[in-house]
Amino acid sequence: MPSTFRRDWITKPIFHLAQRALPRLSATEREAIEAGDVWWDADLFTGNPDWNKLLACAPARLSDEERAFLAGPVDELCRMVDDWKINWQWHDLPPQVWDFLKARKFFAMIIPKAYGGLGFSAYAHSEVIRKLSSRSIAVACTAMVPNSLGPGELLMQFGTKAQQDYWLPRLASGEEIPCFGLTSPEAGSDAASMIDTGVVCRGRYEGREVLGIRLNWHKRYITLGPIATVLGLAFRLRDPDHLIGDRDEIGITLALVPTHLPGISIGRRHLPAMHVFQNGPNWGRDVFIPVDNIIGGVEQAGKGWKMLMSALAAGRGISLPSLSAAGTAYTAHVSGAYARIREQFHVAIGKFEAIQERLGRMAATAYLLDAARRMTCAALDDGHHPAVVTAIMKAQATERLRVSVNDAMDVHGGKAIIEGPLNYLGSLYRGVPIAITVEGANIVTRSLIQFGQGAIRCHPYLLKEMMALEDGDRARGLEAFDQTLWGHIGHSLANAARAFGRAWSGGRFAPAPDAGPATKFYRQLSRHAAAFALAVDLALLTLGGGLKRKEMLSARFGDILSELYLSSAALKRWNDEGRQEADFPLLEWCMQASFAVIETRFDEIFANFPIRPVGWLLRFFVLPFGRRRRGASDRVTDRCAALLTSPSAARDRLAVDLFHPPADEHNNGLALLERAFAMMVAVQPIRDRMHAARVRDIDQALRQRTIDAAEAALLKDAAAAVAAAIAVDDFAPEELTSRGAASKEDVSSQAISQPAPQLQPQAAE
Ligand SMILES: Cc1cc2nc3c(=O)[nH]c(=O)nc-3n(C[C@H](O)[C@H](O)[C@H](O)COP(=O)(O)OP(=O)(O)OC[C@H]3O[C@@H](n4cnc5c(N)ncnc54)[C@H](O)[C@@H]3O)c2cc1C
Repeated sequence: MPSTFRRDWITKPIFHLAQRALPRLSATEREAIEAGDVWWDADLFTGNPDWNKLLACAPARLSDEERAFLAGPVDELCRMVDDWKINWQWHDLPPQVWDFLKARKFFAMIIPKAYGGLGFSAYAHSEVIRKLSSRSIAVACTAMVPNSLGPGELLMQFGTKAQQDYWLPRLASGEEIPCFGLTSPEAGSDAASMIDTGVVCRGRYEGREVLGIRLNWHKRYITLGPIATVLGLAFRLRDPDHLIGDRDEIGITLALVPTHLPGISIGRRHLPAMHVFQNGPNWGRDVFIPVDNIIGGVEQAGKGWKMLMSALAAGRGISLPSLSAAGTAYTAHVSGAYARIREQFHVAIGKFEAIQERLGRMAATAYLLDAARRMTCAALDDGHHPAVVTAIMKAQATERLRVSVNDAMDVHGGKAIIEGPLNYLGSLYRGVPIAITVEGANIVTRSLIQFGQGAIRCHPYLLKEMMALEDGDRARGLEAFDQTLWGHIGHSLANAARAFGRAWSGGRFAPAPDAGPATKFYRQLSRHAAAFALAVDLALLTLGGGLKRKEMLSARFGDILSELYLSSAALKRWNDEGRQEADFPLLEWCMQASFAVIETRFDEIFANFPIRPVGWLLRFFVLPFGRRRRGASDRVTDRCAALLTSPSAARDRLAVDLFHPPADEHNNGLALLERAFAMMVAVQPIRDRMHAARVRDIDQALRQRTIDAAEAALLKDAAAAVAAAIAVDDFAPEELTSRGAASKEDVSSQAISQPAPQLQPQAAE
């Protein structure tokens, strides 16, 4: 029982002070903060995460049915798709692909079976997007959107029974194609500032006089918009005649708008980075819909922002993180193969240290992102909707995808720059900015949401304190504030002691489960979690609401939280996969890189902290010996790179369940690369022998009997395969004029027919 003395003489003045200092949360901020729930992010915020709890969480698993879908329809769809022709020749998915997507219910992965959907887990949904992404971004985005934020998800979470019974079966069967319109020319990241309006009024709908809404809007960038039959629309609802309540301004509302209604213009198409999934603007002028079309009915009028944030809390953790995990695994895989087959200065480029530096980063990033994707899906399948975690996943996964794709482009040089069917990277490279921008552009997500929302949502006391301060009943508010404030102070002191002890001992005694050689990593993360909790508390105490405007500081805090989350996932993956020895360098790379980022961000926060003594104090507690971590060592990077340039179970684990084109697929750069890689690996012992005999020329080696005739033939086949794999497309000028590269059909066969260079001997080491 708190003493009344403490409450009245100590807490009360602080309460009044804090009430004056605390900026009021706007309705949209409050709704964003209240959306979803918290999960492992909240444990990290305590400063003392319980590792055993994390390791005990069941890993994500597929059911037999989901596995069969991936091996069946998803594979079949991938085989039907030609990404080059879709983007550059047809500018759309071909009709048979559209039909297949609808018939096999790709648009209904999240719709429950009771409504005719597939009722897949988050993990299965993610695996489907992942595999499709490794074949065609345009197809992956097309399948992604109806399963992400949009009418399906909103109806399932908030729809009335009648709405669910009517719309969900129609969406599941593909009879209705949905899209979701939130963004308008004037309202992008600040979507809540939209000026699209709806006015409650009476009007005629399908021959009857009904209570309805007259809508006026202008949206843009709407995926599936050009072909959608039903538009989920976000707008500001007004009720000047008080027909559904007593307020004039009702607020952001979501409704279903059939796109055939009079007054709707479906504009022309946008071309998003030359990925031709359907995307475009649309307008409505005095479009009339019944109030029954408000998602969730009239009771949900004005609650649109909360609904959106809630739907986003789950979906954001699946679509783009899955595409990014696929993209990083893909780039690592193809770059390793290319670095093995491409030779310069008589050496495979994968043997150059500077290339290994890139390969090592790609391999470890692929390991990390897939770990985080699986862990997040497991949480979603366990019923969580962790809004901060999914924001971290979206921003971090897409940002790391960008780094990996750039690395892959650099490793490939001109091969990845020249567009055409032989280019298996250009498409992904062009797609990265889309992933960076949609579902919350990364700069705003990193600087405002990851930490800004995280600090309020995941902190064990902050939200309770804010609620107490905003309580209309001041006596009750003071009572609650008194309880939480003193709990908070105790928590902060404990974290200060933890952070100090763990920093000054180098984390040697920080808590960790017994995880063999990985135990030391848990200890370092425990150390940094305590430091993070302490730094957050001091920043909140000294900067208060002003921290929101300090975006650079906030972004650095967000980075530390993200590193703690992603590193936890890598540790969990290593554990869940039976502590694979061969994967340990990947884990080590991730951890070393993560600790360096964490220390760098702490250093930057302390150096830039607006109240200098607080920065000095934090440095003394958290980084007493300065920045010690320098990122992954050359030794570890080298071992990670080696995993990509030779076949192994570890290499396969990185790209498991991505789509691999059939070896004989005509005109496919990836198929040619995989073939050349396999052949070069197969002839390596022969080349080693030639190297030992100091003979380079195949015919000379044959004459000297260093190799036999069969081996000479194998070497020549491998050389031809390499020539085909490193070839690039070219076009007749007229092919590039009227219809772009439309008629480019047989380029790889032309390229393959070019003379093959001789393979030079090369030692394996
Ligand atoms: C291919 C594609 C598909 C899309 N599909 C859909 C769809 O189906 N439905 C839909 O409704 N929308 C869709 N969008 C819209 C998408 O969600 C927006 O593009 C996104 O919200 C960003 O808005 P904007 O492009 O206007 O950028 P802006 O909001 O103008 O932002 C420009 C830059 O400023 C940054 N920024 C903005 N505010 C801040 C801040 N406070 N602090 C720091 N930085 C800030 C942003 O991070 C960004 O880097 C799509 C967009 C694209 C490109």
